[in-house]
Amino acid sequence: MVITSQKKHEEILKYLSSSKKIFIVGCGACATVCKTGGEEEVWQMEEFLSKNNKEITGDVVIDEVCHLLLTRRAFREHKEEIEKADTVLVMACGTGIQAVVASTSKKVYPVLDTLFIGVTKHIYEFQEWCNTCGECLLSETNGICPIARCPKHMLNGPCGGVVDGKCEIDPELDCPWILIYKRNKESLKKIHLPRDNSKRARPGILSLRGVR
Ligand code: SF4
Ligand code: SF4
Repeated sequence: MVITSQKKHEEILKYLSSSKKIFIVGCGACATVCKTGGEEEVWQMEEFLSKNNKEITGDVVIDEVCHLLLTRRAFREHKEEIEKADTVLVMACGTGIQAVVASTSKKVYPVLDTLFIGVTKHIYEFQEWCNTCGECLLSETNGICPIARCPKHMLNGPCGGVVDGKCEIDPELDCPWILIYKRNKESLKKIHLPRDNSKRARPGILSLRGVR
C-alpha cells in the first residue's frame, strides 16, 4: 500500500490562490485506508474549500486513481463537472496525481504527500516494509526485509548499535536483523554480497505485453 499524509491546509490554499472552481478526486484504495483521500476526507476538503470561497463543481472517488484506465473513464463520466472547473484537486498518491494529469488538460494540484510503501500495523499506524529494490532477498532473510526496515539499510547486520532487539536510531523500531536471527539462528552466517543496483533503475517500467 502507498502511504500518504495530507499537506497543511495553508499550503493547499496557497497554490489554489488563483483557482475559483474546483473538482476534487479522491482514491478508494490506499488513500482511503490512510484516511487521507477517501470519501470522508473529500467531503471535509469540500467543506474547507467552500468556507474559503471556492466553488466545488463536483467530486469523484475513483477505485484506484493510479489505474489510468479507471481514471480516464471516471473523467469521461464526470466531463461536465470537470469542464466547469478551472482546477482539479487530487487526494491520491503521486502516481495517482499524474494519472489525473494524463487524463485532463486542467490545472492539477496535489493534496497529499507520498511517503512510502508499507503495511498497516495498527489502525492509522503504518510502517515501510519494502522499498522496491528490484532484487528481493526475502528468501535469504526469513521473509524479513533488512533494506527497508533498517534505517542504515544494512545488508549484513546487525550493526553494533542494537539494544535489546531495538534499533539505536529509533528505539521504537525492532531491528530486522534480530527478527531474522530469531526465526533462524543460522541466518547470520551467510554474507550477502553487494547488490545489483541496475535492477532498481528508475523510472521503473514493466511491460507484460506478449507475455500474457
Ligand atoms: S529485499 Fe526488501 S526492498 Fe527489496 S524487494 Fe524484497 S522486500 Fe522489497
Ligand atoms: S540496530 Fe538494526 S535496524 Fe538499527 S541500524 Fe543497526 S542493524 Fe539497522
